[in-house]
Amino acid sequence: MENNSPMTPEEKRKAYPKPPGQRPKVILRRAPDYDPERIAAIVRDGLTELGLAGRVRGRVVLKPNVVMAHKKIAPSAYTRPEFMDGVLRALRSAGAADASYTIAEKSGAGLTTPRVFRRAGYRALQKTHPVRLLAIEEAPKIQVELTRGRLHDQIATASEIADNDFLVYTPKLKTNYLTQGLTAAIKLNIGILRDRQRMWNHNDHLDEKIVDCLEVGYPDFIATDAVEIGFGGNQFTQHGRLLGLVVLADDPLAHDVICARLLHLDPRSIGHLVEAEARGYGPLDPAGMAVSGDISLAEAMDRTKDWDVHPIRVEESQDRMRILSGEPYCSGGCHGVFLDWLYMIKDRKPKLWTKLPRWTVVIGEYNGDVEAKRLLLIGTCTKINGTVKAKKIRRVRGCPPGHKRLVLELFLKAGIWNPLIRPELVLDGYVFEFFALVRRFFRGRLG
Ligand code: SF4
Repeated sequence: MENNSPMTPEEKRKAYPKPPGQRPKVILRRAPDYDPERIAAIVRDGLTELGLAGRVRGRVVLKPNVVMAHKKIAPSAYTRPEFMDGVLRALRSAGAADASYTIAEKSGAGLTTPRVFRRAGYRALQKTHPVRLLAIEEAPKIQVELTRGRLHDQIATASEIADNDFLVYTPKLKTNYLTQGLTAAIKLNIGILRDRQRMWNHNDHLDEKIVDCLEVGYPDFIATDAVEIGFGGNQFTQHGRLLGLVVLADDPLAHDVICARLLHLDPRSIGHLVEAEARGYGPLDPAGMAVSGDISLAEAMDRTKDWDVHPIRVEESQDRMRILSGEPYCSGGCHGVFLDWLYMIKDRKPKLWTKLPRWTVVIGEYNGDVEAKRLLLIGTCTKINGTVKAKKIRRVRGCPPGHKRLVLELFLKAGIWNPLIRPELVLDGYVFEFFALVRRFFRGRLG
């Protein structure tokens, strides 16, 4: 049954999770390619089946995953523009005449969202749709007080994310070693934060942090680009793999549980899903969800039965560098980010991967003696409780150091090349970032 009544942001925050007896719905649809008209038809059907078509009015805000985009080294890390084209067609055909559309995003830490929008092909969407592209870091912010936050008492984000009439999340289904294998709808919320708040407690508390954000970024509707998923490797540079699906839902936790199952991951092994269940956002048992569509979950899972997406620890990732993991093990922090850095090389510089220089790397507080020719210490907390014998010692600080910092410092301090070191990305990441900071300074939007 249609529920067309608009909700204030405050009502929205109080209304979740769903009342007992109201089963969240997830729809799986076949989509063999990125034909925008086909995707539009699928999304229109989904809006109707979920009883949400009448809610598309007023300020409609779409939040995709555009963490990074580059046609050569990051072609599969983001929600494709053809997919967004299809979603916009569907929303505009279902929506009220006075609805306005905004795509809001903050790309990866240290990256300039307008540049990433451009590289992802999102500027072209404005030729066919009356849609605004909003870089969250450049938007006026509002502070939202949290009532269920564990780490954050409040979150500052663009007012469009916290105050809108219809919030649509359009994630890219991806594997991600920082979050036990899965990036889907709930993880998308890291991209509503500015860099400083984003990197704060991006460590062994990442799961709590992600779920804190759910109180602010709670989508009304989810349409996921699972046509080609980002598979294996680093979350930016990973290769794409055809899954041929669109996933639609009215509940982010149910959506992510089904996405985990699509990849043969146990939802109970994914920290932020477990944390979301513990905070009352819904069940983790797929039996508590109504799954429908033109392909069954079992048939969809059959497509991925031979795909190995299970996360591994950083010290198991390769045999060229000796990696000594101390405590805490931060899959969302230094351990995960270093693993991600290694996989950038594996994904896009496979020859270098087989010839990685033989450094010894210590991450976290390590108990034991360490003898090495060349020693790398990753992370501010890292220390060795034992004797150290090394000719060369280099340290990269940060809790954790972001990808950008790791790429630069490991190049400058250890001489290790990385596929992200390209002239156009250096321009984006430093020159355009500098201009963006100046722009924000004069507009009073640095905070
Ligand atoms: S500095 Fe220490 S606590 Fe912080 S992310 Fe790194 S390993 Fe974890």
